[in-house]
Amino acid sequence: MTEPFLPFSRPTIDEQTIAAVADVLRSGWITSGPKVQAFEARLSEYFGGRPVRTFNSGTCTMEIALRIAGIGPGDEVITTPISWVATANVILEVGATPVFADIDPVTRNIDLNKLEAAITPRTKAIIPVYLAGLPVDMDRLYAIAEHHRLRVVEDAAQALGSSWRGKRIGAFGDFVSFSFQANKNITTSEGGCLVLNDAEEVALAEKYRLQGVTRSGYDGIEVDVLGGKFNMTDIAATIGLGQFAGIDAVTAQRRALARHYFTSFGTDFEARCGAQLPVADFEQSNWHMFQIVLPERIQRADFMERMAKLNIGTGYHYPAIHLFKLYRALGFAEGMFPIAESVGRRIVTLPMFTAMTENHVERVVSAVKSILQRE
Ligand SMILES: *Cc1c(COP(=O)(O)O)cnc(C)c1O
Repeated sequence: MTEPFLPFSRPTIDEQTIAAVADVLRSGWITSGPKVQAFEARLSEYFGGRPVRTFNSGTCTMEIALRIAGIGPGDEVITTPISWVATANVILEVGATPVFADIDPVTRNIDLNKLEAAITPRTKAIIPVYLAGLPVDMDRLYAIAEHHRLRVVEDAAQALGSSWRGKRIGAFGDFVSFSFQANKNITTSEGGCLVLNDAEEVALAEKYRLQGVTRSGYDGIEVDVLGGKFNMTDIAATIGLGQFAGIDAVTAQRRALARHYFTSFGTDFEARCGAQLPVADFEQSNWHMFQIVLPERIQRADFMERMAKLNIGTGYHYPAIHLFKLYRALGFAEGMFPIAESVGRRIVTLPMFTAMTENHVERVVSAVKSILQRE
């Protein structure tokens, strides 16, 4: 008997949210409007009163943060090679130069010692990524930023609901960018938000979000910067408001599933199978993903195929960015960031989503063990 297909991620949208979306569709106002404002107010409250603006992705949020910080040609921005390619693409998008620093093999996040060593007089900003929702050492990160007078654009796309030493990610720091793409812990189908520092940055964010336009009175309109088309719709914001009501429960459920993964794998899994489990952090990480690093003796594609044959979906997040053609053309090559290259080849994402049960976790673990255990 084959079990039904288990994807590695699946959004959960409740009936109340679906009904609220239908109301918006019938309301006569379906683009940015009152729902966007309400969602922004809710987000701002969640992030300790800091100003927040929403957008149509968690990519343009970072591009806009870089623009607000005045970063452009001639400036260097340091980031990790292990992220969704968006993280580095936004650096190129504003005309700046991407600089990578290798990762820590245990956390799989940027190694802050290597980050600091990569700083030059041209460095203007750093974009840390919290892979799978696990933050970096935030005290150290901001100490480095302060010491070298760098802006920080946190790519917290995966870290909604994560915290650092009791403080919510987003409730402190410099620019903090989140994504509400369909696979994220909270979704708006597509979308993102940016936590900002002050009214001046908010005004700029609003301009960059919509063609550089400022309106006043009944017919006043001015354009003084080059903006794009990045606004969130009321349809998306309504999904976000519905999703946000359950954020604490979502985080708690994912932490419980992660704990169950560890229990089911058992303490001898790494030694027996040669695979590496994630950091067992149930306080700070929101467990956006549960990822293992495979042993060298198996090809990831073979592993994924064998899991698929057992009706279990897997993903790979992420191959090292600097080895993509676009980045090789800029001079990046194999051997520059060996830990990222190795992890990027071997990392695999196991199913993790809110509607999963402990039985699902056990099914995944026994499948992984059946493939990896040496006879
Ligand atoms: C999802 C994600 C992004 C991009 O977000 P979009 O909303 O899809 O544009 C960027 N960085 C990381 C680490 C992500 O996981």
